[in-house]
Amino acid sequence: MTAKLLDGKQLAQTMQTEIAAEAAAFVKQHSIRPGLAAVLVGDNPASQVYVRNKRKACEKAGIDSWLHELPGHTTQDELLTLIARLNADARVHGILVQLPLPSQIEEAAIIQAVDPLKDVDGFSPENLGLLAAGQPRYLPPTPHGVQQLLLRNGIDIAGRHVVILGRSNIVGKPLGLILMQKAAGANATVTICHSKSRNLPDLTRRADIVVAAIGQASFLKADMVRPGAVVVDVGTNRLADGKLVGDVDFPAVSQVASAISPVPGGVGPMTITMLLYNTLAAARLQVK
Ligand code: NAP
Repeated sequence: MTAKLLDGKQLAQTMQTEIAAEAAAFVKQHSIRPGLAAVLVGDNPASQVYVRNKRKACEKAGIDSWLHELPGHTTQDELLTLIARLNADARVHGILVQLPLPSQIEEAAIIQAVDPLKDVDGFSPENLGLLAAGQPRYLPPTPHGVQQLLLRNGIDIAGRHVVILGRSNIVGKPLGLILMQKAAGANATVTICHSKSRNLPDLTRRADIVVAAIGQASFLKADMVRPGAVVVDVGTNRLADGKLVGDVDFPAVSQVASAISPVPGGVGPMTITMLLYNTLAAARLQVK
């Protein structure tokens, strides 16, 4: 079997065009543009690329964006002062603090300092709590992108067994919550695995849909996937030769799966798209 490609790059283009049209209608109605403030601390090259790509996508969609670049020795108090200023700025509807932060700054303290209405990453306890309670406000962009990649490729989620590798607060855990919602486009039966899970191949082979989000290059092998299952690869791993690969052994698994997302060009562009989606949603919620 040769799998259908779940092309995130193409879908992201389609959805970003849709979001641009909605943003234009919003501007027409309210005479203000949605705005996203990005905060980058330090000089991590991967983070610089992510933020640059997010800002480029904002520009194309008609969303204002501002970049606040702070040096790597920034203190937690200095960063909290900037967050407070952005929380109070009416032009800023969404705040994105690019992770990871330098070790002297406690990530949880920063995430909690962002006004939950401006938390377009959906990482705050309030927004994760709303999702867990079945009343989602902003879905974290990466897991929301995974859901959209499945749905817009005609892959039914309802009643299917989804096995997720990884339980982080930014990918695995919210993805489980999103897919198990009692709501259209969800209603999955979800199993979440992590580094302490036993007999992983037994678990992944029981899945209709496997999502790998662990950060281990080519970890998911063909013999861990039931023939005909759908595979989504969230992982991004940089090899010694500079090549970017996912958590899935793509050449082998694509011979077994019915559909599979590539890395790059799968979940990554969808993450950016759903960040734009949340920024527009945030502007709608905050407009007076
Ligand atoms: P993370 O915070 O490091 O979490 C990794 C998770 O994987 C943890 O729950 C860990 O288990 C689990 N894990 C690690 N090794 C495992 C193993 N051998 N077997 C089973 N579980 C294992 O990572 P993350 O932030 O969720 O990101 C995961 C991957 O997705 C990374 O490659 C990251 O770069 C990528 N990512 C991509 C995007 C995108 O837009 N494409 C966005 C976000 C993240 P424990 O909890 O037990 O430690």
